[in-house]
Formats: sequence, C-alpha cells, structure tokens
Amino acid sequence: MVDQIGIALPEMLRTTTEAGPAQVAYEQAVEAFFGSGRAFAFWKGRIALYAILKSLGIGPGDEVVIPGYTCVMVPGPVIYTGARPVYADIEPDGYGVRPDEVARKITPRTRAILVQHTYGLPGAVKEIRQIADQRGIALIEDCCHTFGGRLDGQLLGTFGNAAFFSSQWNKPFSTGLGGLALVHDQELARRMKAEQARCPAPSHKAAFLLAVQLRLHQAVVYPSTSAAVTRLFRWMTKKGLVIGSSNQSEFGVLLPRYYALGPAPLQCRVGRRQVARIQANIANRLRITAQYFGELPKFGYAVPKRSADAEVPILRFPLRVANKDEALARAPRYGVEIGSWFECPLHPAETNHAAFGYQDGDCPEAEKAAREVINLPTHQRVSERDVRRTLAFIRVVCRPAH
Ligand SMILES: *Cc1c(COP(=O)(O)O)cnc(C)c1O
Repeated sequence: MVDQIGIALPEMLRTTTEAGPAQVAYEQAVEAFFGSGRAFAFWKGRIALYAILKSLGIGPGDEVVIPGYTCVMVPGPVIYTGARPVYADIEPDGYGVRPDEVARKITPRTRAILVQHTYGLPGAVKEIRQIADQRGIALIEDCCHTFGGRLDGQLLGTFGNAAFFSSQWNKPFSTGLGGLALVHDQELARRMKAEQARCPAPSHKAAFLLAVQLRLHQAVVYPSTSAAVTRLFRWMTKKGLVIGSSNQSEFGVLLPRYYALGPAPLQCRVGRRQVARIQANIANRLRITAQYFGELPKFGYAVPKRSADAEVPILRFPLRVANKDEALARAPRYGVEIGSWFECPLHPAETNHAAFGYQDGDCPEAEKAAREVINLPTHQRVSERDVRRTLAFIRVVCRPAH
C-alpha cells in the first residue's frame, strides 16, 4: 500500500539504522559550527523535535508551553507524545513568546518550554531560561528560522537543553527536506542517540524523488517564479508526484505511520556543504535585511524590534500591512516574492485549531500578527533588482497597518 506521497512503504523502508559516513560527517560539521552540543540529523525538523520530546521523557499528562504563532508541525509532535500543547502569546514587535505569558501558562504538569526564534529574530531565551531553571523545566529552542544568528554574541541554539533546526525548502539553508537536533547534556544525548537509532532511513524512492526535486528547485525557483512554482508544487504533491513538505496525516493529531525517519545520505551531503558555506549565506541575509531596515521606515512602516547586540540574519523580513490579502494576491503579477507566515496561530489556514488545543482568542497578538504580517525574501536568489522591485511594490500596493 502506498500512502499519498508514495513513500513509506514498509517493504521499502531501509532497515539499517546505522549512521552512514555522510551522516556522521554532517553531524560533526554542525557540532563544530556550534562549538558545543551533540547533533542528530533527521528526515525533517519536526522529527528532531519529536525525538527531543521523547528523549526528555515527555508523555501523557505532561504539558509543553509553545508559542501561539507557529506552524502546526510544532504542536503535532507534542500531541504525538501524548502531552498537551499550551499556547503562549507573542510580543507584537519581535514575534517571539512573551516571558510573562510563558510564566502565566506554567502549571505543575509543565515539562518543557519551547522558544521560537521567529523569522530569525532572537526570542527571549535569556529571560525564559531563568523561568525554566527556577522550576526545573526543559527549554527547547525552535531554530527552524535561524542558523548562525546570535544574541549577545552567543549562537541561538545554545541557550536551552536542546534545539531543533529545519532545512526544508524555505529555511536558512535547504536540503529540500531535513532537520537537526542539537542537545546540550550528556544524558539527553545518550537518549537521543537511541531515539535516532529507532528511526529508519526514508525509502530509496523518497530519497530519489528528493534528489530530483533539489535539482529542479535549483534550476527554476527565483523570486519572480516562486509563486508559480509553489502552485505547481502543491498540485503535484496532491497528485502524489512529488514529496511535499507534509503529507495529509501530518496535519492530524494521531502519530502518522512512518513518521520518525532518519536522514537520507543525500540530505547529509547537501547539508554539510551548506554548513560549510553558511557565512556567505548569513552575510547575504544581513545585507538584504539592512536594506529593508533602512528603506521601509521611509514609507511609514514599523520594523521589527532588535536589540543592538543581536546579530540577526533574518529568514523572511516581517512587515505589517493593512491589506495583506491584496498584497498576496497581487505580488505574483509584479514578479515579487511575498510570503505569509503565519496565516493563523497554527499555520496553515486549514488547521483544525480546536483539535490542537487552540481556542480562538487564546493568543490575541498572534491572531493580529497573522492578519497583518507579510514577509519579504532575504535568500541568495534575491538580486538587487528584486529588492528594488519588492520595495517599489510595497510603496505602491501596500499600506502600513496601524
Ligand atoms: C518549518 C518549521 C518547522 C518544521 O520544520 P520541518 O523541517 O518542515 O519539519 C518547525 N517550526 C517552525 C517555526 C518552522 O518554520
């Protein structure tokens, strides 16, 4: 039986869970980059989070405080362990969880707090670390939007007990799909190793499709084509012709079959190359980000709050507009790449929020941000001309939200 993405046939799951040389080299490169902690590669970022939660011993009866402004692939793993996600609201100008909100949501059942560095803007990890330490609760950093960003000189991903990263298409660097965990204590690392060893590698078919898609992506995806390619890609995913970032079962609250998979060697090889080149990637994002920070206030836009001592390579530059739907609808015709993270507290819009324990009104700032925020690209395919076009589009089509 083939599920809708055409992978995960039991007979096609490779049974070896020995880390191959590509995986070992990738994990070592990540450890060397961070200078501390043990790294573990997975098929996707969400699986890294799932393995962290399992390794922390989180399960039925436990609670995990997470931001109410995230993608549904974050509460998913919490629920798959049997624990309950509890949603904390965000700071309106930094898009991370508010420490006082986190403190308010803690109960005797709370086992972990998840801080997300949304858009690459550092979350309040220092304050929340104190809250977690006082109560003996684990701190997990969601670094899916940052790789190499710093707060007070310290790398994001090194503030908590564990961090997880994504290298899906739209993340700081891409291996098509992919994820990493970085853990900072020995006992946790030992358990992670065991969790990872339980994760079979993806099927040869899945790895092959991913390889083809990586090539195609490199060939055709530019800011001016991204909307069309994304539409085509979603359609092909529905038809089972390509591997989407998520299959249908991952939008549900039951642990999908064949969820916890290890990395394909290809992901590890590409990932290692990307880590070796990360400084150029970061420099590019800082350069484009500086232009947005410099130009957008001239058209009356508020820009995100950032502390002077934070080095912030922004993944997608968030901007609050009064006419988000119009901006998203008109951008493709102007050849401008405008994104929408997050469309609702638990992105995407189709998510059944109540099933994931989110009630309307739980996080008003997150709901407001979801209505107002569009995001602008900073990746290496963005040319100077793209930046000028994007800024011109914003001046002509968008209106600041106030
Ligand atoms: C993309 C993303 C994830 C999940 O990463 P995958 O590799 O797609 O599983 C988790 N958290 C945030 C904030 C993300 O943007």
